[in-house]
Amino acid sequence: MFEAKGLMVFYENMLALNNVSLSCGENRIIGVFGANSAGKSTLMYALSGLILDIQKKEEMAGGERITVRGDVLYFGQNIKSMKPSHRARQGIVLCPERRRIFVESTVLENLKIGGYLANSRQTQETIEYVFTIFPALKRLSKRLGGFLSGGEQQMLAIGRALMAQPKLLLLDEPLLGLSPVIQYLLAKAIKEIRDQRGISIIVSEQYARPVMPIIDYGYILENGASVVEGTNKELMDNPDVKAAYFGS
Ligand code: ATP
Repeated sequence: MFEAKGLMVFYENMLALNNVSLSCGENRIIGVFGANSAGKSTLMYALSGLILDIQKKEEMAGGERITVRGDVLYFGQNIKSMKPSHRARQGIVLCPERRRIFVESTVLENLKIGGYLANSRQTQETIEYVFTIFPALKRLSKRLGGFLSGGEQQMLAIGRALMAQPKLLLLDEPLLGLSPVIQYLLAKAIKEIRDQRGISIIVSEQYARPVMPIIDYGYILENGASVVEGTNKELMDNPDVKAAYFGS
């Protein structure tokens, strides 16, 4: 359904993504693991197409030169030049790092804003679904985004992304900065979203422990390159991965 081939991203002369290829079939959860600066966000920008907007903005501002190479295939079509807004309309929706919810809007308003690509029936149905997987958001529906805890904000960010009716949901470090209890709760919700809605998910994370059990297949990024890949069992059995991510 979705495939990236030989992705390269240079920020000026700095190689941030080095020949990365990955694929995600329908109804799958794919993990991308890597330390700080490994290239996870850059990969998410390349998959969502946001890198093209960033590139254009830099160009217009006379800023750094960003070079993007490689192919992105979606249901057999090469979408490497497709704008991120167009990709979103086709079902590729990014939930960016650090949540970026609207802090001066309520929970319900945030969700409705996320539904800009949906019709009113889908909007209503998806709001109800979001409240089912994240009951806390239902109780807080009138609260301003800025007054939510980190975990609640992340639930809202995922909920808002679901409002855009994704076929492929890209989650960039959704567990960052959250307590272990909330991390496990969110990992469980991510799996439920795939199981219940049939949405394919690519999730990037620095801390593999809570996410590894829910993925079907994963990639380890190091200095912008994919160095190991495999099923979650293969990754968990790999001694290098174990030492780096599971402390044993
Ligand atoms: P983190 O966990 O810190 O978010 P990451 O794995 O998401 O890290 P990226 O943000 O993709 O990594 O960064 C990859 C590399 O590219 C880093 O060395 C980073 O400093 C560099 N980089 C990212 N954005 C830019 C930019 N706009 N200009 C120059 N270098 C950048």
